[in-house]
Formats: sequence, structure tokens, C-alpha cells
Amino acid sequence: MTTNRPFQILMLPGDGIGPEVMAQVRRVMAALSHLRFEITEDLVGGAAIEAHGIPLSQETLAQAMAADAVLFGAVGGPQFDTLPFESKPERGLLSLRKNMELFANLRPALCFAPLAGASTLKREVIEGLDILIVRELTGGVYFGEPRGIIPLPGGKRRGVNTHSYTTDEIHRVARVAFELAGKRQGRVCSAEKSNVMEAGLLWREEVRALHAAEFPDIELTHMLADNMAMQLVRRPKQFDVILTDNLFGDILSDEAAMLTGSLGMLPSASLGARLPDGRIPALYEPIHGSAPDIAGQNKANPIAAILSFAMCLRYSFSLEADAARVERAVERALAQGLRTGDIAEPGAAVVSTTQMGDAIVAALS
Ligand code: NAD
Repeated sequence: MTTNRPFQILMLPGDGIGPEVMAQVRRVMAALSHLRFEITEDLVGGAAIEAHGIPLSQETLAQAMAADAVLFGAVGGPQFDTLPFESKPERGLLSLRKNMELFANLRPALCFAPLAGASTLKREVIEGLDILIVRELTGGVYFGEPRGIIPLPGGKRRGVNTHSYTTDEIHRVARVAFELAGKRQGRVCSAEKSNVMEAGLLWREEVRALHAAEFPDIELTHMLADNMAMQLVRRPKQFDVILTDNLFGDILSDEAAMLTGSLGMLPSASLGARLPDGRIPALYEPIHGSAPDIAGQNKANPIAAILSFAMCLRYSFSLEADAARVERAVERALAQGLRTGDIAEPGAAVVSTTQMGDAIVAALS
């Protein structure tokens, strides 16, 4: 996006540690004083249930649809556990994803050098890792019809889900992966199970067709999803962009993310299709939840939320240099030895949410 107007951002801090980590994102935004952000803040999840009786109001949804980007904290908490599924705080997030038609989920797995020793994998396997997983988010087996639990004679039952993809669904998410690869190392590896699933075979053929038609300069390889699960722990640095469907992406992105550290370090982005006015609907969020066990104690790691904001700079506003600056500031804070509880070695000193924010803001300026 290249306009001279301020970037319109809707912040939805949500519940638990959401507001705590998002407060640090606000400080990082303020530290980038050469950029103009117009920030609106609103309620989502449990906070919205308490105020309005529902996890996402129509007004908030309308603001999300109108914004250049949504920065989301986290939702949920034990006090809402007994609500019916349709009324739970998490519904607010699902409703945003659905209404904004966010079909491409981006999850980087990036190894910050100061944390390389903390991985469960050997340092040499993990150091310098920089993978981006692009997962299809709105189709496949989680949404396919028919679905359900069907009674059988004799009190037995059959559970059914349908793994289904169309050409258009495959092309639109593959296009995102190819375009992003063009800004990185120019390599896409697509994962499916084309050996045993028709929908997997279609996935492979359609990705190949789109590649030939529109992205011949990008290197495309294919890998069976089970092999990729092994390769991610064996030799993860062989990958640049990984493209995969909803089900395999769910699993592979969690696996890749955990190569590099704690939940408190992991950002994500979800993107939709370009609108007639040029905007791309986008929602950025740490992958962690509301962490009720540490909420309100100034203990949460704000880095996942801050890195999600860096993704927003990169993908919504094409501000690559500023995104990299924020990421470098995070790396510098880590290099100084600062650790929140989730990333500290046992027995080591830990800093608070605010102190980590202080160090990142200081490193930015
Ligand atoms: P969680 O991610 O909230 O917490 C899991 C563990 O990781 C906890 O011990 C927590 O203290 C720790 N942790 C998480 N983020 C951290 C951070 N930034 N810094 C330090 N430690 C951190 O997952 P959960 O406990 O399974 O779920 C808690 C609530 O969050 C539930 O209501 C769940 O439904 C909700 N949830 C929401 C989202 C979301 O909003 N996107 C995602 C997952 C879970």
C-alpha cells in the first residue's frame, strides 16, 4: 500500500495477557515516529461479551473490514468455558476470519541467534533458520461437506469429514506463496498427500499449473506432507516458503514454530484477497492464547505480538526496512540477555513484560 494518508489500524487487545502485550506494541508503534498510524481500539472476545453480550459486535466487525490492518491480541479465559460454543470468546476471532475471508495464514519460523541454544534441536540445525509457512485457512477438511456423526445400526456410529479443494481455492493461496517467495529466496515447497488423496493430487497439479502460467522464475518443489514433517526436524533450513493446505498446515506450522522457541515468540498473519480499493484484508496476531495463568502479572512475553506488528509493516504496508528494524530491535534485546519467564533458562533472571518492551523500544531508538 502506498498512500500518504495515515495507516488505519484497528487494535483488538482482547482478554488475559492480550491487553498487556498489545500495550507494548503501541509503544513500538510510537517509537516509529516517522510513520503515521491512526489507531482505533475496540473490544473482542470475553471483553466484548462482558460489555455487549457477544464476542464480536457488528460495529467492531465493520471497523475491521474498513481498516488497513487489524492487530489482534488474544481471547478466552476460564470464566467463559461454560458458555455454548457459539457464544465463546474464540467465536469473535473465527467470525473475523470468516467475514474478512482470510484464506492465507502466514507463520514464520525464525531462529533468533541469541535463542539458538534454547531449541530442542542442535544449534547447527537451527541457527539462521528462516522459513515462512503459508497455510490455506478457510477450506479443506475442516470445512468440507458432508460432515457429521451418523448413527449406524446397533448403536454404532460413523464420523465423516470431507477434504475438498477447488482450483480457485488452491490458486489463490498458492499465488500468495509464490508472491512472497519472490520477495525472499524465491523457493516454494508445496506439501500434500498426492500419493493417497485425490484432493492432494489436484493440489499438486493446480500448484504446478499456476507456477507454469504465472511464476516460472520461482523454484517449485513438491513434498509429501509426512516426509515434510520429518524434514522439518532433520534439515529445516532446506525450506524457504512452504505452501500447504488447512489440515497439514495446522500440524506442520506448529511443528516448525516449535523448532525455534516458546509460544511467546511466535507471530502470525492472515490475509484475504485484494479488494477493489487496493487493500488486502489482514489480521495479525501472536499465536499464543490469553494465558490466564499469568494474566495481569506483567509476566507475558510481548515479542510474539511485536513481531506480528512487524509482519503488518511488511505485508500490509510494504515497509520492509521498518519491519526488519523492529525484528533487529527484538534480537538486540535478546542479545542483551533479557528473557521473560517463558524463554528463560531454569534459574535465570527474568524480566517483566514492560521491561522487555523498554529494551525493544530502546533498541529501536
Ligand atoms: P495459551 O497460549 O494461552 O497458554 C499456554 C501456556 O503458554 C501457558 O502456560 C501460558 O502462560 C504460556 N504463554 C502463552 N503466551 C505466553 C506469552 N506471551 N508469554 C509467556 N507465556 C505465555 O493457551 P491455553 O492455556 O491453552 O489457552 C488459554 C485461553 O486462551 C483459552 O481460553 C483458549 O481458548 C484461548 N486461546 C486463544 C487463542 C487466540 O486468541 N488466538 C489461541 C489459543 C488459545
